[in-house]
Amino acid sequence: MTRPKTAFPSRRPAAMLVGALAVALAAASPALAQEASPQASQTQAAKKPNIVIIGTGGTIAGAGASSVNTGDYDSAKVAVEKIIAAVPEMKEVANVKGEQIFQIGSESYNDERMLKLAKRISELVKQPDVDAVMVTHGTDTIEETSYLLNLTLKTDKPVVIIGAMRPGTALSADGPLNLYNAAVVAASPESKGKGVLVVMNDEIHSARDVTKSNALKVETFKSLYGPLGVVVESKPYYYRLPARPHTTATEFDIDQITALPKVDVFYAHTSMDPTILKAITSNGSKALIYGGTGNGSVADYMEEPLKEVRKSGVIVVRATRTGSGQVVRNGEEKDDENDWIVTADQSPQKARLLTSLALTKTQDTKEIEKILYKY
Ligand code: ASP
Repeated sequence: MTRPKTAFPSRRPAAMLVGALAVALAAASPALAQEASPQASQTQAAKKPNIVIIGTGGTIAGAGASSVNTGDYDSAKVAVEKIIAAVPEMKEVANVKGEQIFQIGSESYNDERMLKLAKRISELVKQPDVDAVMVTHGTDTIEETSYLLNLTLKTDKPVVIIGAMRPGTALSADGPLNLYNAAVVAASPESKGKGVLVVMNDEIHSARDVTKSNALKVETFKSLYGPLGVVVESKPYYYRLPARPHTTATEFDIDQITALPKVDVFYAHTSMDPTILKAITSNGSKALIYGGTGNGSVADYMEEPLKEVRKSGVIVVRATRTGSGQVVRNGEEKDDENDWIVTADQSPQKARLLTSLALTKTQDTKEIEKILYKY
């Protein structure tokens, strides 16, 4: 059996060292020995959970020219070790260690980068000396990366993703408190088995439901059915649980996935250009998420082009661009007749990831739709 790699100095030698120190002190002074008994002198560090913080860039690693630049700045500039060093309060709740995997704005994530991050987290959570993983991430696509992780990581250990809306150089930068709160959440035994969590603005969100709702405000992350909980004065308080299967309860395992089948999104609006859909039939796409108006509605002049997409072999998934609500099969559209399928309540961008994962398991449209409704 190969010994798993460790990220933190072994706990055992530290405890043994404490024991040896106590024995030496006992010989020197019984009073001192009492203070330094193995239990009493067990170092704080040994009692605290070990958390690896993976840095990926984003505004939490951003820097502006002046403190009043809250929206005008460069993201992905500051190394994760520096971000960690700026929040020494975290040391009170956990032993933290940084690891830089990327230095990018999250708008630049692609499937390869998401898989690389997910696989690294999967390695880390398998290590016995890692109790939780945190990821500093740009806020633009936090909802996508975290949903992928939520669906594919095989762990009960807390995995917490955080970002910031203001760079560290700005007045009222939100990154430091988000980071501290995320550490509080990641260090809490209560956070185990709740799936991948996104902690922003004192709230704990499920990766399944969270979405960025505002381009600038600190209060931007919303969950369709509300956050799972809040962080108040260094304590997480949970009020609800995710109802949909996640992490250990899904059929997707990041360790088995080497690539994600290509899935594209088309955003519906008035006066669409149907010729754009033609590209989908010849660019290697396996499925198209049609982010329709209202209940995933298809304009009369888009029906034929969309039928053509399906006939070319590309799976057509109707979603809604409204941001919430289930898409009703065979409601206003002839899904059975056209062999189109529908999402449940997922946004087009989340449906893209889930459809891609589903395609790693089946090509059957009915089965893919079941998966879309399950998760
Ligand atoms: N564009 C940045 C990103 O997503 C914005 C942010 O982090 O808030 O990386």
